Amino acid sequence: MQKLYNIGAMKKNYDYLIVGAGLFGAVAAHELNKRGYKVLVVEKRNNIAGNIYTEEIEGIQVHKYGPHIFHTSKKEIWDYVNQFAKFNDFINMPLAYYKGKYYNMPFNMNTFHQIFGVDKPEEAKACIEKEIKAANIKEPKNLEEKAISMVGTTIYEMLIKGYTQKQWGRPCNELPPFIITRLPVRYEYNNNYFNDIYQGVPIGGYTKWIANMLKGIEVRLGIDYLEHKDELNALADEIIYTGEIDKFFDYKLGALEWRSLRFEEEIIDKPDYQGNAVVNYTEYEVPYTRIAEHQYFEPGQKHHKTVITKEYSKTWTLGDEAYYPLNNEKNSVLYLKYQELAKQNPHIHFGGRLGTYSYYNMDVVVEKALQLVESLLN
Ligand code: UDP
Repeated sequence: MQKLYNIGAMKKNYDYLIVGAGLFGAVAAHELNKRGYKVLVVEKRNNIAGNIYTEEIEGIQVHKYGPHIFHTSKKEIWDYVNQFAKFNDFINMPLAYYKGKYYNMPFNMNTFHQIFGVDKPEEAKACIEKEIKAANIKEPKNLEEKAISMVGTTIYEMLIKGYTQKQWGRPCNELPPFIITRLPVRYEYNNNYFNDIYQGVPIGGYTKWIANMLKGIEVRLGIDYLEHKDELNALADEIIYTGEIDKFFDYKLGALEWRSLRFEEEIIDKPDYQGNAVVNYTEYEVPYTRIAEHQYFEPGQKHHKTVITKEYSKTWTLGDEAYYPLNNEKNSVLYLKYQELAKQNPHIHFGGRLGTYSYYNMDVVVEKALQLVESLLN
């Protein structure tokens, strides 16, 4: 077995200490363990699976930290994740609710028909292009301009402006354009939220999926690495850290801005509530951004009760859980400085959404974890 540390160096108990039992940590742990390295995973929470943690309530897999749907266009990533769970054929088709009416998402012919009354793609294009032309945006500099140059002003006002302002806690003209390009615009009747070839939710929940990756690996729950840094560092030669990078350095260059979330979960004594996995509330005045009804992530089962979660976005303050990085200019500059600091610690490897301050989808997290392991071993 190839060893990464000097033969003469002090003997440690583990080759790798992995901080965080979320998706990135689990993939890295699995790959290193598979190659014969001794791995210890420590996790601050009392459960594995990070923010994709699911818990069974009333026989339903509840996405405790917001709805997650796995999707990718890369066959190798799809094959990889399918080793650890069977995925169902769930297709995400969220609805948007705005001033008493439902609209299909993402922006497609159903939406255009509902909003403009048009039936054919060329009519929809004409409507939207007229609005785009009138807005006269040459090069979109922020999310507002990007959104208008994608779908025009009417859809921007109804389905984007309020939701985005709630989600990010600032006006759309103060946000980076890339956020809105996550959503497709399609001139066809197709409500699939994603363009990827492969999509689904692990049957039996994400926690089981992550547990399968971590099989045979020592995982210590309820351990806050940052509180026991010296002790834990002494246990391993190399460390993979998947928490917030600014927190790792005790915010010494300043705090990065994150968005946090608050969840209100409810068990409802009826077989169904909203008839769909996700409904987005796009009006600014409705305090939550979306409601997830978890039974629909694993369709085809009959339940007497249903579980819903209202999701509220909030400004991150010290002590809150970080969910979304706010990748604007100011934070990107600060993150680069933290990256420079990180380079001074070659035995500590940062990964995942929090460790690299990146708005990643799950497939990218898996890919990045596999790449990190490859780079460590080469
Ligand atoms: N968005 C929107 N209206 C919606 C849904 C999304 O304006 O009904 C915008 C919003 O700015 C959001 C971004 O699109 O932050 C990305 O949405 P996505 O659903 O990918 O966000 P996530 O599921 O990661 O929270």
